[in-house]
Amino acid sequence: MEKALLIVDVQRDFCPGGALAAPGGDAVVPVINGLMDRFPLVVASKDWHPRETVHFEKWPPHCIRGTAGAAFHPDLDEKGIDAVVLKGTGNTDDGYSAFEATNEDLIYLLRKAGIKEVFVTGLATDYCVRATALDALDAGFRVTVITDAVRAVDLHPGDGAAALAEMQARGITCCTAGDLSF
Ligand SMILES: [Zn+2]
Repeated sequence: MEKALLIVDVQRDFCPGGALAAPGGDAVVPVINGLMDRFPLVVASKDWHPRETVHFEKWPPHCIRGTAGAAFHPDLDEKGIDAVVLKGTGNTDDGYSAFEATNEDLIYLLRKAGIKEVFVTGLATDYCVRATALDALDAGFRVTVITDAVRAVDLHPGDGAAALAEMQARGITCCTAGDLSF
């Protein structure tokens, strides 16, 4: 079964020191780098906002397209990434899910490559990872979230754990990178 690795928003602004950091967000980078070679297709999303958007009424400004904060974490192995999808590009949308990307049709990109199963990693568990994993499920893919390759914002303590429980209840598998048998 063809598998794709989805890397959600591993950008500077979501890592410690960034505008909207997920605590420990940078810890996902070595785990994700170690996974890339196992997948025939690696797709990374970027939160890619305009300067003015309704999204910033809910969140501090972050990942404004073209800025340093919107760049991938400097240690992320960019040469292992086959496609980058940009989301949150409008000024009226949140763009939490990588499937809301506007530069690529992610469902088409995955289906064209024969992908049946996606493995979701990145930031943040309780927002963009959750939205991406649930959209993947709704699009008919088998979905696994790699729990040591995600981190939560945890605006309210326990949000990340609750998101993982919700995803599991919907039929998404949660496991660690070490649990993968391929
Ligand atoms: Zn955003």
